[in-house]
Amino acid sequence: MFLPVTRDEAARRGWDELDVIFVTGDAYIDHPAFGVPLLARWLESHGFRVGIISQPDWRSREPFTALGRPRLFFAVSAGAMDSMVAHYTPARKLRHDDAYTPGNRHGARPNRATIVYTSRLKEAYRDVPVVIGGIEASLRRFAHYDYWEDKVRRSILFDAKADMLVYGMGERPLLELANRLRRGEPFGRIGDLCGTAVIAREEPGGENVVMLPSFEQVSGDRHAYAEAFRLLSYEQNPLCARTVVQRHGDRLLVCNSPSLPLFEAEMDAVYALPFIKAPHLSYREPIPAYEQIKTSITSHRGCFGGCAFCAITHHQGRIIQSRSAASVLQEVERLAGQRWFRGAVSDIGGPTANMYGVRCGRPDIQAACRKESCLYPQPCRNLIASGRPAADLLRKVRGARGVTHAAVSSGVRYDLLRLQPEYLRELLRHHVGGLLKVAPEHVAERVTHLMRKPGAKIFEEFLSQFRCESARLGKRQHVVPYFISGHPGTTLDDMVELALFLRRTGLRVEQVQDFTPTPGTLATCMYHTGIDPMTGVSVYVPRGGKEKRLQKALLLGHIAAERPLIMQALRECGREDLCVELLGVRGRKPDRRTVD
Ligand code: SF4
Repeated sequence: MFLPVTRDEAARRGWDELDVIFVTGDAYIDHPAFGVPLLARWLESHGFRVGIISQPDWRSREPFTALGRPRLFFAVSAGAMDSMVAHYTPARKLRHDDAYTPGNRHGARPNRATIVYTSRLKEAYRDVPVVIGGIEASLRRFAHYDYWEDKVRRSILFDAKADMLVYGMGERPLLELANRLRRGEPFGRIGDLCGTAVIAREEPGGENVVMLPSFEQVSGDRHAYAEAFRLLSYEQNPLCARTVVQRHGDRLLVCNSPSLPLFEAEMDAVYALPFIKAPHLSYREPIPAYEQIKTSITSHRGCFGGCAFCAITHHQGRIIQSRSAASVLQEVERLAGQRWFRGAVSDIGGPTANMYGVRCGRPDIQAACRKESCLYPQPCRNLIASGRPAADLLRKVRGARGVTHAAVSSGVRYDLLRLQPEYLRELLRHHVGGLLKVAPEHVAERVTHLMRKPGAKIFEEFLSQFRCESARLGKRQHVVPYFISGHPGTTLDDMVELALFLRRTGLRVEQVQDFTPTPGTLATCMYHTGIDPMTGVSVYVPRGGKEKRLQKALLLGHIAAERPLIMQALRECGREDLCVELLGVRGRKPDRRTVD
């Protein structure tokens, strides 16, 4: 049975009142791939009466009263994506689709959904606590640069006027909060939960407190902003992180240390919850995000890569939380039992597929480790990275009854894959369907250094390993590389270097991601400040639409419409000598299209 979305549905369960009501910017898909249904099922399994208000019309408060007043609190999420990232392209143009909405339609949630939803809830139920969470709240919990307004905004907790913010993975903090409220503790006295942030008037006592430069300082001084980011980056490890405080005017944001990751048995318990694995019955049109994941299996959470432009490490944590093989197989068996299932599992993975089962082999060192990444600048020698658990898992899944094929379509870290020959063999022999997605993102050394990615040498070594292994297996397989243009530190010359690399290695890109400064990442800090916060070194930042457009075009030489732009880019960096090599044309030709 779905969780109730109306009072009638709640009544059918015999619930005249709910304990916790979730409000989300996504459609309600009862599947563990989506955070709100997962947390709602988690609380339900601990005896709480839970309902979901999904994609309410925010123009009035009535839709927010659909399930009445909750006994404990409202839990608000903008959805699986930050609402501004979901709504706008890197060029700040409005998108016309939304994969988390029936019919792929744009417009089912407002900009800054967390703030808007909280405001409507407070209009309707002034005295009911509102807890905000999800990726939008999580990554905007401190004063942060907002690309869409091109300014530093306050912590979202102040702007939303919510009572508490849950960041990272929500199972532990939400459950503990609900349990303490159930035991009668007043909401206002619960300020010490790991994985949460609250607003306070007085500084917390004790030595384990880090004071960041204030909102006023970071909004007016880019060096202070970079310093705040640097200090914060040392407080990501839940095993040793301290409470982080940031003053906003006469009040303080108090961010408690991150909550501990889930153990394997807890992960298994989460994924064994009674999900229907389908969108709510009220939807009449397909939801692209569901179609994409309906035959995929999440094997783990977290990522220890620490790529500068990615928020996953900040949100899911650096410690990998893997499910047991038995738990994954149970889910595969349930999937195989569905009438519509045709035998193909579309993905077995997580944020980075080959991190399943990988862990730090020195718990004593890990307990105090404050490194940004376990892989950069080179894989840490303490990492137990053999890839054997992941290889075993693949073998078991493809051997499961009812499964004809099991793909790995999540991305892999190729610098890690080099240490995992057994997993690589399994992958290439059975699971990539001729195409393997990898994300070198760039090859110019000063850019990959700023991205915290391995450089060209490691990528080339991996390519030759991939090609040798594929040849040994007698398979024609290709690498699909992902690259980013316009990342802080990238010049036109760097993009020319990358274009030449593609030419030399015979690689072709289908898509190039134009860098977007999403909230909370290291790269966004560099974009805003022009400083690498970890070294204090100045960073060149491509900002203009013209330069960004030319950077992107340089990787798309196989598309006829991009060729005039490539010629323009080569002219601008004085490398017309490369026209023949990159485009197969000699000298200048009249341009039909240029960027001004
Ligand atoms: S010691 Fe190494 S492997 Fe362990 S957490 Fe730190 S960086 Fe990662």
